[in-house]
Amino acid sequence: MNTNFDCHYDCVVIGGGPGGATTATILADAGKKVLLLERGNFPRFHIGESLMPESYWSFKRLGMLPKLKNSPFVKKYSVQFVNASGKESQPFYFDEMNPHECSQTWQVVRSEFDKMMLENAAEHGAEVWQDANVNEVIFEPAANDSLPRATGVVVTRAGQQSQRIGATVVIDASGTSSLIARRLGLRQPDPLLRKASIFAHYLGGRRDQGKNEGATLVLSTNDQDGWFWYIPLPDDIVSVGVVGDVDRLISSRESPERTLEEEILRCPGLDDRMVGAKRVSKVHVLNDFSYRATRCAGENWVLIGDAFGFLDPIYSSGVFLALKSGEMAADAIIEGFAKNDFSPAQLGKWGQTLCDGMHAIRKLVYAFYTKGFSFGKFMRMHPEFKKNLVDLLIGDVFRPEVNQIFDTMEKMVPLPEAIPLENNFSSPTRSGVLTL
Ligand SMILES: Cc1cc2nc3c(=O)[nH]c(=O)nc-3n(C[C@H](O)[C@H](O)[C@H](O)COP(=O)(O)OP(=O)(O)OC[C@H]3O[C@@H](n4cnc5c(N)ncnc54)[C@H](O)[C@@H]3O)c2cc1C
Repeated sequence: MNTNFDCHYDCVVIGGGPGGATTATILADAGKKVLLLERGNFPRFHIGESLMPESYWSFKRLGMLPKLKNSPFVKKYSVQFVNASGKESQPFYFDEMNPHECSQTWQVVRSEFDKMMLENAAEHGAEVWQDANVNEVIFEPAANDSLPRATGVVVTRAGQQSQRIGATVVIDASGTSSLIARRLGLRQPDPLLRKASIFAHYLGGRRDQGKNEGATLVLSTNDQDGWFWYIPLPDDIVSVGVVGDVDRLISSRESPERTLEEEILRCPGLDDRMVGAKRVSKVHVLNDFSYRATRCAGENWVLIGDAFGFLDPIYSSGVFLALKSGEMAADAIIEGFAKNDFSPAQLGKWGQTLCDGMHAIRKLVYAFYTKGFSFGKFMRMHPEFKKNLVDLLIGDVFRPEVNQIFDTMEKMVPLPEAIPLENNFSSPTRSGVLTL
């Protein structure tokens, strides 16, 4: 057993994004000694600005609602789709079916939002180190699992020697770095989603008025081979990004700046909104971002948020799923402490529920990317599913009933099989499975 540590915590959280901050806050509220390690120094840029309404319940639990209500973030009441000829769908208003304040959410500037979340975790009692890069997770063979047991981390703080920190539970919330999933070979790309995205902030893009001012727009390119998000932010800034196949957007193109400009011209719905708009940020590129781990927990370790998996930007589900998995994992960890049980079955008991919800959104993602399919057409043929669709779009995905829509949708569009989550943890360590 590894005992050579500089200090010991109940829980070490790797990463201070929305997922890590959520888990750290809830664990600290439960009286656990929590250390959160973030390699960046906040505020720092991050993509993922449009929230899903069901995030409301996590914000309520975390004590974030008053802060968000007092923030300058733009209020979001709806999402609207714009087709390849520039024709706009009716907005999907989230409060149409449920006139409660939870039906309004926000378009956030992630540098500020993430800082608020991290400060909130510290206010609730988590110890937060920024400029603290986790170099590795320390493992030893597990007694009852084929994967190893986590005992702590090695962290390097800016300008300091690295330290070995012991932890009863290591929570990987490192986002797309997915430290543990990569280290243990658990990260699987989504087979049909090889997408890339190029994006930037613009000043002075036209936005609609009144309730539609904060809407997320999803706009198709003219050949339906890509789509744009158009997300209004404070200070007359709008976040504009294109998503398409990696091969088309990256491999054969000149520069991201040029590609973004060319793609804007190929998007009829964007034309008049972008007249006079000026780019005020660098152009960012991300690709191959759709993946999931085959496990969400092992002995004394847990994966949450993007460190577990990410679907696709289309329905703005990333932050919501990071908050939700952060909450579910924290509850399982707290129960684990009460029972002195840090087995994968205990720490990962929430995994299948999360995956079922993710899979419902994943089906909508696949439908969206199927040529010839449109939600407008589907709704015209099946208006009886309007509430069901809005429920999915707000993130109300953890009830089995929300899957009713898919029996009918499947007759129009091929939908993917679920990605299995490994949950047979009880077999003893298979020798030689992993060289530590
Ligand atoms: C193109 C694109 C557009 C998107 N748009 C949206 C959107 O509109 N709405 C939405 O909800 N989601 C969106 N997302 C997804 C969203 O960005 C993520 O799902 C969300 O940020 C996940 O939160 P997280 O806490 O899991 O990870 P992150 O927010 O990535 O946080 C992880 C943190 O871990 C830190 N870290 C990493 N490695 C280490 C290390 N070794 N040591 C210490 N710290 C470390 C990082 O610095 C980072 O701060 C989008 C994603 C993409 C790719």
